[in-house]
Amino acid sequence: MWTGRCHCGSIRYELSLPNLYLTLCHCEDCRRSGGGPYQGWIFVPRKYFHLLAGELKVHRYEGRERSFCSDCGSPVTFAESAFPDLVEVSAGTLDEAAKLVPRDNGWMQDHLPWVPVDAALPQFLHTAPTPCLD
Ligand SMILES: [Zn+2]
Ligand SMILES: [Zn+2]
Repeated sequence: MWTGRCHCGSIRYELSLPNLYLTLCHCEDCRRSGGGPYQGWIFVPRKYFHLLAGELKVHRYEGRERSFCSDCGSPVTFAESAFPDLVEVSAGTLDEAAKLVPRDNGWMQDHLPWVPVDAALPQFLHTAPTPCLD
């Protein structure tokens, strides 16, 4: 069981699965919406994501949606209409984020040259393939 929250604490959630798959996304959309040079996402089958407190503000575009805390702006989730059973959770909002281990780097096409990348991890030019989680 994993827990997480936004910066101000209005949003709290729980992920009811033992092992988390962390991908690092270097796409421009993640950069602009998250404000960092890249963004860590955890692939979570939707049934394991439980919102415990707060209401997410959802931004929809091009078949995708990103959710944020409407009070502090922390990015919380990302989802695509092509994968309705999957939600990606912003790795930085996890309480035990230090325990996560990145598995791959996605959207290297948009990678910023000054961001170091672990050469031992797989790299994908576009979206990292969704792992089998169940
Ligand atoms: Zn907040
Ligand atoms: Zn991205």
